[in-house]
Amino acid sequence: MAKPKVAFFDFTCCEGCQIEFTNYGDPVFLELLKHVDVVEFREAMSEKCREPLDIAFIEGSFSREADRPRLEEIRRRAKVVIAYGQCAATAGINALKNHTSDYRKFVYGKDAALPHLDSQIAVGVDQAIKVDYYAYGCPVNKYEVLQIVSHLLHGKDPVIPNYPVCVECKRRETICRFDVGDYCLGQTARAGCGAPCPADGIPCEACRGFVDKPNHEALVKVLDKRAGMPKGWARHKTRMFTANQRGDVK
Ligand code: SF4
Ligand code: SF4
Ligand code: SF4
Repeated sequence: MAKPKVAFFDFTCCEGCQIEFTNYGDPVFLELLKHVDVVEFREAMSEKCREPLDIAFIEGSFSREADRPRLEEIRRRAKVVIAYGQCAATAGINALKNHTSDYRKFVYGKDAALPHLDSQIAVGVDQAIKVDYYAYGCPVNKYEVLQIVSHLLHGKDPVIPNYPVCVECKRRETICRFDVGDYCLGQTARAGCGAPCPADGIPCEACRGFVDKPNHEALVKVLDKRAGMPKGWARHKTRMFTANQRGDVK
């Protein structure tokens, strides 16, 4: 039986989520290749595919209207579309630019008005096309991606966590960052990564976005208790990866 055809496509992003899967000899990628036929993947091969697809992984945010036809063409060809990484899911760190209307001027200076540099605020690809599933993270968790593919190949709905990182942190018995005078966004951040950052002694920055219906204001209040930080720090912190989820972009 032919293997399912899978392709990776990139839009506005750093392509770090593709690289996450292509570290030389990565056993997780080799495992994936046993079960699927990767027919397009810019970081690893030059071939292009115009055939129907079983799974399309879309990396990067939707930040240019000019990208809409390509997104729609991928959607038409693919049975399943997965937003691959936080840029594709919610625009992730790309949405930092959404905090200001002057982003083109900051980045391109005197060239800001050139037509080929035109862009809009960054949003998830589901603002342009229907997305079936989301692989969160900046970058993605490759073990979770493998699990999503495995579920799909077995005809099951992938299970995407909708509980906070604190749950995973407690499971591995990590000392809470707040207990050592630090801060952390894990209370409202979406789990699924296994809470590696607090385990390494650094705060969770919610790189997988927030859970559905997070209590932003409670999070800001907790962060505001941290001594020595400038006014407005807590509010800025809570929208670093999550500008679009806070709903207060310009
Ligand atoms: S989610 Fe992060 S690692 Fe992945 S493409 Fe976007 S910026 Fe890069
Ligand atoms: S370190 Fe962060 S993720 Fe872990 S329990 Fe504390 S607040 Fe939650
Ligand atoms: S602990 Fe937080 S910042 Fe670290 S990988 Fe998980 S969601 Fe991202």
